[in-house]
Parts: sequence; structure tokens; C-alpha cells
Amino acid sequence: MKKIVFLFALLTLLIFSLAFKKSTINTFPLFGYLIVIDPGHGGLDPGAVYDGELEKNYNLDFAKTLKSQLEHLGASVLMTRSADYDLSISNTHRKKSDFDNRILLIDETSANMYISLHMNYLKETKYYGAQVFYSDVNKKNKTLAETIQSELNIFFKLNKKVKRIPSDKYMYNKINTKGVLIEFGFISSPKDRKNLLNEEYKNDLAKSIAKSIVTYLM
Ligand SMILES: [Zn+2]
Repeated sequence: MKKIVFLFALLTLLIFSLAFKKSTINTFPLFGYLIVIDPGHGGLDPGAVYDGELEKNYNLDFAKTLKSQLEHLGASVLMTRSADYDLSISNTHRKKSDFDNRILLIDETSANMYISLHMNYLKETKYYGAQVFYSDVNKKNKTLAETIQSELNIFFKLNKKVKRIPSDKYMYNKINTKGVLIEFGFISSPKDRKNLLNEEYKNDLAKSIAKSIVTYLM
């Protein structure tokens, strides 16, 4: 009799834990994943400047939106910066020092992936929308980039292609962790700039990126 009770208890526990695991996967598909978000530039480095608007501010602002959407899906998120500063520790090779510390932060956290955020810039103001760039230093980066790009193309109703980052570019080719650079809009586009001031738009854009990460990981 004792044995039957024990087996019954064990079976109940098993069913309960399986159900719990399934509901965790459904509600929090990114539970257990660590993602580093890297908002480009900061501090003395404004990034692209258009009509007095600084790329570094858009990058940080959107990084916060993306962080909260990824956390909604259960991910743990780290940011390489959470305010207006860069990561350089020396003034002599400021840019290199900034890059080196971002690389260290991303690689030494054992993150599952990094997402670096920047904005595009062109003299022609008609270009808008997001594009994903990848380094082939990690062979998984291209598929990740394509998965995110296809979701972004649905969002923007565009047909942009992912682009490989040339191997002489410093930062991304030194990061071993899987990840991509997303230029989530053009700072030179009045349409993108206006949209990025709208909370609902930012949330929707961040949701589409988060959704594509789930698609990639599942
Ligand atoms: Zn930039």
C-alpha cells in the first residue's frame, strides 16, 4: 500500500512539473537566456548627428524598450551602458578602449547572445527602416541576423537584406559570443525619428525583435 501511495505521489509530482515546465516555456520562452544589449556610443561619443539630434540618445532609449520586452518573455538582460557614458578608460585611444570594454563585457558574461543597437545615417532623408549586420567570426551570426531581419521586414513592409560586417571593422569581429548589430532606423529619416518618439511604436518594434529571437532559439 505504501508503495502505491509513493508511486502515486511521484506520478503527481511528475505531471505537475511537466505542466509547469510547459507553461513556463509558453509564457516565458526566453527564461534561462542571458542577452546583452549594447547601445552604441555614449558620453563624449554622440554617434551620428542629424539636425542636432544625437544617435547615442536614440540608441539608449530604444535599448531600454528592447530590454523590457525581452524581460517580459523571461530573459535576463544586461546592458553595456545604462546612461550617457561610453566605456573607455583612457583618453588616448578612446574609441578602441570603449570597444575593448564592450567586447569584454559581452564575452565574459557568458551571455547566450548580444544585440548591439545603432542607427543608420544617409544624406538622402527618404531611406528608413531597420537593417541587421553580422560578423562571420561566429558562424551562427548569419542565421540569427536573417531571422531578425525577416521579422523586421514584416514590421517595416520592406525587403532589406542582412549585411556582413567587413573583417577589418574592429569591434564585431572580435566578439566570440553569438550576436548581431541592428541599425533599428535612420537618424536621417524624419519618419524614423518621429516614430521613435512614440512609446507604442517603440514597443511594437522591440516586440518584433524579441519575437524573432524566440523564433531563432526555439
Ligand atoms: Zn552608431
